[in-house]
Amino acid sequence: MSHPQITMYGTTWCSDCKRAKQFFGEQRVHYDFVDVDGDDAGRAVVQGHNDGKDIIPTIVFEDGSVLVEPTNSELAAKLGLQTSASRAFYDLIVVGSGPAGLTAALYAAREGLSVLVVERSGVGGQAGVTEQLDNFPASPRASPATSWRTDCAARPSASAWRSCRPPR
Ligand SMILES: Cc1cc2nc3c(=O)[nH]c(=O)nc-3n(C[C@H](O)[C@H](O)[C@H](O)COP(=O)(O)OP(=O)(O)OC[C@H]3O[C@@H](n4cnc5c(N)ncnc54)[C@H](O)[C@@H]3O)c2cc1C
Repeated sequence: MSHPQITMYGTTWCSDCKRAKQFFGEQRVHYDFVDVDGDDAGRAVVQGHNDGKDIIPTIVFEDGSVLVEPTNSELAAKLGLQTSASRAFYDLIVVGSGPAGLTAALYAAREGLSVLVVERSGVGGQAGVTEQLDNFPASPRASPATSWRTDCAARPSASAWRSCRPPR
């Protein structure tokens, strides 16, 4: 999996930096962090983007665009996350995309229902932050959590459900 080059310029004590870090962490987005306290070059980058002012976090993206003190909504938009429903009506709305929510959504989609999954954080819930699941349902073997999460979340359809069955 490729990771976009993102560099966050901030400090360890800045609350907006902590919030942006948490957001990237929840979305499993890789980034480099430059602590501008004691890093003159990093501080110069910040000042260069902010008319000489020290405004953090200043986040520089791979395409050269810059976000300064972004809200989580602005970060979500920049990352291309879907933050609004595409339909006016759904047969079922599932709140939470952990294993329970994704399973419910996939079963419902398999039956032909239109399903919306609402997630406040990263897809996969607690399992999404686990590198390896030891006792995955229906499989006594360890299963790579990342590939299961990616496959199931990316293709919530009846055909996807079959491919989302854990390996036997
Ligand atoms: C480090 C770690 C390792 C683990 N290893 C294993 C293992 O090896 N084997 C195993 O069987 N289990 C393991 N577990 C436990 C397993 O991950 C959990 O039992 C499982 O994820 C629970 O699934 P869930 O869907 O019920 O809840 P969660 O995974 O907690 O998912 C709930 C989701 O709902 C979202 N949510 C909550 N409230 C809202 C709201 N109001 N609006 C929108 N979204 C909301 C949350 O952000 C979250 O994504 C591990 C857990 C951790 C943390």
